[in-house]
Amino acid sequence: MGILEVKGVNKRFGGLQALGDVNLSVAENTCHAIIGPNGAGKSTLLNCLVGKLIPDSGSVMFDGQSVLGRKPYEINQMGISRVFQTPEIFADLSVLENVMIPCFAKRDGAFRMHAVESVESEAGIREEALAMLEDVNMADKKGMLGSSLSRGDKRRLEMAMCLVQRPKLLLLDEPTAGMARADTNNTIELLNTIRDKRNITMCIIEHDMNVVFSLAERITVLAQGTPLVEDTPDNIKGHPKVREAYLGE
Ligand code: ADP
Ligand code: MG
Repeated sequence: MGILEVKGVNKRFGGLQALGDVNLSVAENTCHAIIGPNGAGKSTLLNCLVGKLIPDSGSVMFDGQSVLGRKPYEINQMGISRVFQTPEIFADLSVLENVMIPCFAKRDGAFRMHAVESVESEAGIREEALAMLEDVNMADKKGMLGSSLSRGDKRRLEMAMCLVQRPKLLLLDEPTAGMARADTNNTIELLNTIRDKRNITMCIIEHDMNVVFSLAERITVLAQGTPLVEDTPDNIKGHPKVREAYLGE
């Protein structure tokens, strides 16, 4: 039984079947990659896991509880955190403040962020945020404004904003999209470090096969909204159906 169990999930947009009978089981403390061509339904599936979309049918269980019918912030509080395809950070706040905000939100609940803080608790949160910035190698940039960061640093910051909430499951939708090779390699290293340090389960959507093969223990190939095959990276590499449907051979 995985920490995440998706069973028989269907999702239609009008006449389009974006997801058809999707099953997915993600084991705790592993990295599970979801690959597939554009339009395969990868982001739709992720959106169904975080409450942004509601499946037409099927079940999504996380840590033994159903996520269906819960609001995104409730699912976040259950321990699922998500990195967006385009980094979502606060442009007018410093790097450190960006990482402190999710701490306040987690402690006080998403809708009580303006609760009066005691000085001690703010100091604790500042310390925690700084430690997180150390982990993502951004401590030296703590005073910079969000808007002034490079694309790679914005991603790294967003990662810190997710991780500081201490999620059990981290969902990443194309975390290296638009990155240069050097930043992509840094991201691989960063994700591997985070896994070792924090025992975190990851589910990653990724186009870059180098990233997928460097991180994932299991890979699900999605094609036209349906899982084509689920296997280890080594088996996926040589799978004829995958080469045909995904690699275009
Ligand atoms: P992927 O992330 O694998 O590229 P998506 O999950 O974004 O694919 O999209 C799957 C299919 O669903 C595509 O055909 C896309 O156009 C369609 N789709 C996604 N979101 C919506 C939406 N909100 N409304 C209508 N169609 C959508
Ligand atoms: Mg997508």
